[in-house]
Amino acid sequence: MDEKIFDVAVIGGGPAGYTAALYAVRAGLSCLVIERLAAGGQMCETVHIDNYPGYPETVDGFTLGEAMQRGAARFGAETAFEEVTAVKLDAPVKEITTTGGVFMARTVIVATGATHRHLGLAREEALVGRGVGYCATCDGSFYRGKRVAVVGGGNSAVADALYLAGLCESVTLIHRRDTLRAARVYEKGLEKATGISIRFDSEVSAFLGEQRLTGVTVRNRKTGEVEELPLDGLFISIGRDPVTALFKGVLTLDGAGYIVAGEDTKTNIAGVFAAGDVRTKPLRQIVTATADGAVAAEAAAAYLSALS
Ligand code: FAD
Repeated sequence: MDEKIFDVAVIGGGPAGYTAALYAVRAGLSCLVIERLAAGGQMCETVHIDNYPGYPETVDGFTLGEAMQRGAARFGAETAFEEVTAVKLDAPVKEITTTGGVFMARTVIVATGATHRHLGLAREEALVGRGVGYCATCDGSFYRGKRVAVVGGGNSAVADALYLAGLCESVTLIHRRDTLRAARVYEKGLEKATGISIRFDSEVSAFLGEQRLTGVTVRNRKTGEVEELPLDGLFISIGRDPVTALFKGVLTLDGAGYIVAGEDTKTNIAGVFAAGDVRTKPLRQIVTATADGAVAAEAAAAYLSALS
């Protein structure tokens, strides 16, 4: 066990986590960010961020994430690239177990964000990376000149289809409803795009192929008709779920699994705060995640100064 007790431990190195770290260290607190993958969180899944203020010519998420980490490190924030596997949050000194050891901190900011939703069909896990994916901008280049489909009808699904249309031979958008839920800006893009066909009222009912995906069966929800669609790749873009499995039975979660916390980011446990996509809130975006990070760090500082 590392004997050092940090003032603030931040779980998750996305925009909420690194903004919390920046504000914590600038307030004179020692701060450790624990991140299991790469700085930037979900931002790393997109190459075009056009609505984060200050980047008139767009910015890719990986660059922005790295910049956020460096900005916090400049004032002394540390990062452990490890996965948190267990937490003990009720005592005044909180214990965080990771794949690398155990860390202690007087306050914890949970910024574990959200992750892609699965279709829940048989063999989905086994085919991930073998034709099934969740991030078109990360993996799309593997399907250059090939036939792909995207499942979903919201902004992310349409953005994925548009991105893939620039690389692939054909793109089929499979949506379970009869209209898309995407914003007008994406629908305009669809009107101009070539090589994208849309199957409305349809859902993927099974994966085809043994070692790797060779296609899917698509069921029409209105007629019940089932058809085989030969494919090289399938991207599933049907929404996100909060990453809160670690906190079940520890923090109060809402029905969808989000940590119940208001604008002050306070959870049901004193000294534990929730920032970013992981908490109950109306808009999950980078600007709202960074705003939460700042508020959570200020709240942690206020909690610590009230103790002393
Ligand atoms: P996340 O970004 O989800 O970061 C959470 C971090 O916690 C992750 O790095 C994860 O690895 C880590 N983590 C989770 N569990 C553990 C654990 N047990 N141990 C250690 N680390 C853990 N928003 C915009 O404003 N503009 C856009 O253009 C935009 N485009 C997007 C495009 C895509 C494809 C996606 C997926 C999202 C996009 N978003 C966009 C949404 C935006 O990325 C999120 O709202 C934002 O990243 C949320 O930040 P966060 O810090 O709360 O969580």
